[in-house]
Formats: sequence, structure tokens, C-alpha cells
Amino acid sequence: MFIFRLLFVLMMTSLISGCGGKPVKKPIVRLFALDCGSIEVTDMSPFSINGAFDGQSYSLANPCYLIRHPDGDLLWDTGFDQALADSPDGMRGGGFHSTVSVKLTDQLQEIGLNVDDIEYVSVSHSHPDHIGNARLFKKSTFLISSLEFSYMFSDEMRKSNESFDSYAHLESTLIKKYNDEYDVFGDGLVVIKTLPGHTPGSSILVLHLENAGTVLLTGDLIIHAAGRRIGAVPTFNTDAAQTRDSLAKFESLAAQKSALVIIQHEPMDFKKLPAFPEWLD
Ligand SMILES: [Zn+2]
Repeated sequence: MFIFRLLFVLMMTSLISGCGGKPVKKPIVRLFALDCGSIEVTDMSPFSINGAFDGQSYSLANPCYLIRHPDGDLLWDTGFDQALADSPDGMRGGGFHSTVSVKLTDQLQEIGLNVDDIEYVSVSHSHPDHIGNARLFKKSTFLISSLEFSYMFSDEMRKSNESFDSYAHLESTLIKKYNDEYDVFGDGLVVIKTLPGHTPGSSILVLHLENAGTVLLTGDLIIHAAGRRIGAVPTFNTDAAQTRDSLAKFESLAAQKSALVIIQHEPMDFKKLPAFPEWLD
């Protein structure tokens, strides 16, 4: 009996560790950066409470990110509502000129995906440049920080947020709420982490890629490269002290992991990623 039991244990060990006793290869995770709009800002003054950017203009990128894991696809931030692509002059207001030149669904189609193929959709926070296309993903599980969920469905937002209708349906779709952190595929390779301050539940995405190493997607905790250099706190953040605390935690994580930091709205960071449909892995 003992010899059979021993053989069984050896067999299982070899299955777990892979053929020939080699360790199991880590799953390949791929990061795709999609163009989900751009924002021309005539006066960057709202992006620092210290007036550091007063009078400066800047062009912000507005990407969406698709993370392909062997166990499923995650769309991180959904961009502006792609219907904006049908308005040649985009949308203007408050010193912002927002445009969408290519639809998210057309880009997904380019790699053979349609909206129903995406298992998980998550947003760094609930502003319209990030949640605009969430309504398209009716079969996906929507991953959201509990704090952000309470904020976006608060009485105040229901009454006064002009873009409330664009995401109202999310209250009754397949939702998975998380506190602090959420390990999307359960293997530590794709982790959402709440670092609040921009909004009450704003989050970043932490990826551990085979070749590129640790990659941090900032959400709007950092808006642009110049803002990162001075630890800028935008005037419209919901909590300045919380933002500073989150920035300190972010920078210490980035240093500890020697991470590649992708500032989502920074056009230089969008350009340094492989051009879609190429990917980073
Ligand atoms: Zn944004």
C-alpha cells in the first residue's frame, strides 16, 4: 500500500510542478493601451492647489487599458462615452475640449473581441472620462471599491452629477465590491488598490508582468508628469490630505518595486507603451 501511496504523491507532485519536475510557468499577462479620447486643457490651474500650473495649457491623453490574463480579460477604465466620436468637434466646457477619434468597440474588434467577451470591467474612479463606456459591458462583472460605489450612488450624485445617467444601471448589474485591495485573478498578478483622495474610493492598478516587471497604472492620483514631480493636488480632489497620503504610499510602492509608472493622462506615458494592437508583457 505504502508504495502506491508514494507513487500517487510523486505523480501529483509532478503534475503540480509541471513535466520533468520543472516549476510551473507563470501565466502570461498582457497589457494593451487603447485610445479612449484626449483632453485639450487651456488652463491647467485646477491641477494644483498651489497654483503651480496657472496659465499653462496641456494635452492630456485618455487611454483605456485591457489586461489579458489566461483566466480572463479585465478592462481598466473605459474612457469617454464613445458616442463622442460621432461629434466631430467633441465636447467643450470649463476650459476642457474633449474628443474621441476612435471607438473602443472598434479597437476591441481589431483583436477579435466584442464587449460580451470581457469578463471584468473596473474603473479607477467614477468621473466621465473613465466610466463613459461602462454601460456597453452588460455581461461583465463590474469591480468597484465600496467607497467609490457609495460615493457614485450617494444622494448628492443622484441629484447633481450630470453624468449620473451614464452609469446609473451599474447599481443593478453584476457587481463585485472590494475594500482596500482586490486580486482580480487570485494569483497576485493583477491587483486593484484603493488610494483615495481624487475621489473617496479612487484606485490604482498594480500589474506584475513577466518581462516588464511591476507596472503601476495611476488612475487620476497623478494627472501628468509635471504634477508627479511636485506631488500636485488638484483643486477638485475630494480630499487634499488623503491625496498626499496616497501619493506618499504610491511613491514608496513604486520605489520598492522599481516599478514602471504609467500616468494614465500623461501623453508621454501613453506613447511609451507599445502601440495597439501590440502589447506589453
Ligand atoms: Zn481623468
